[in-house]
Amino acid sequence: MVTTSSLFCPRCGKETQQEGLCQACFADKYVVFEVPQVTEVVICAKCPAYKVGERWVLTKLNTFEELAKKATSKNLRLMIKVNKDVKEPAILLTSEFTNPFILKSHIIVEGTIEGRPVKTEADVEVRIRKETCDICSRIAGGYYEAIIQIRASGRLPTKKELQRCMKIADDNMVRAEKAGDRLAFVSDIMELPEGTDIYMGSTAAARQISRAIVNDMGGTILESPKLVGEKEGKGLYRVTFAVRLPGIVPGDIVRMHNSLVIVEKVGRRISGTDLVTGFSTSIEAEEEPAKIASASEGVSTVLVSGDSNSVQILDPDTYVPLTLRKPAFLNKQPGEDVRVIKTNEGVFLLPGGGRGEE
Ligand SMILES: [Zn+2]
Ligand SMILES: [Zn+2]
Repeated sequence: MVTTSSLFCPRCGKETQQEGLCQACFADKYVVFEVPQVTEVVICAKCPAYKVGERWVLTKLNTFEELAKKATSKNLRLMIKVNKDVKEPAILLTSEFTNPFILKSHIIVEGTIEGRPVKTEADVEVRIRKETCDICSRIAGGYYEAIIQIRASGRLPTKKELQRCMKIADDNMVRAEKAGDRLAFVSDIMELPEGTDIYMGSTAAARQISRAIVNDMGGTILESPKLVGEKEGKGLYRVTFAVRLPGIVPGDIVRMHNSLVIVEKVGRRISGTDLVTGFSTSIEAEEEPAKIASASEGVSTVLVSGDSNSVQILDPDTYVPLTLRKPAFLNKQPGEDVRVIKTNEGVFLLPGGGRGEE
């Protein structure tokens, strides 16, 4: 009798093509991965951040659903324990909401053991829990690392200046947030008689804002760190940025280049119009030109006569006729009123049209 040599699976008894277990029994014998049947993932109730272990990860996702799925996928991939014998495991993970706070995730892991393909599938119930992330709780708790104190040198800052400072702060904060500085938030704003204090979550952002203010409006910054505690052996500092806006404001009349100038713009340079010639001029703000008067102290008087080089006006107090060089800005006719300022150095015509008047 002739017999053909046959192989049989020792587990199920089916005829096979190879020694040992048949493919079905082989795949059945090995558990490719393990994962809990039920788990919980945590997302922030206030911002698009989710938790991995003890760490919060911020995303740019826009909806709760996207954030919950992202948090689920990231957390489950870390929970999946793949059998060490599996070579080149490939994980396929899909998640669907089964109710507003529960997802069902289907996981398939494929690979090979001893050169033979193996595959396991499993379902996980994922419960979504909302907490407040570290940054959102700092914001809520009034946390701050730095204070920007906005003051002005020898005077009070104007409302307009303070508004401008806040605008600069807002613009820079948007930029810092985009660059990934999650602490770039304002935790408090104190409006004081002498200026404004801005409490900031981030020292780096506070420094950037202080510099941007001084770049735009002139002035100086004094940075003073104060030790407030210790964390993991390192000193914890709270930094005050004392921003001092220049004493000169638009509308001030200052001594500049041996003449009197009505200030129109203050920044790194102070610029304005020379009251004698009527021409534009400027100086480095660091030169700190002396303030002589303010355009608001100007008074009206009559333009008596004039030619292309000089004009006659009446002294506003004594009505004595005075002859002045005609400044380039003057476009009034004899008989009309002009604004002048009387100083220790004489009487000067002021430009009209709101120039220098903020
Ligand atoms: Zn078998
Ligand atoms: Zn948050």
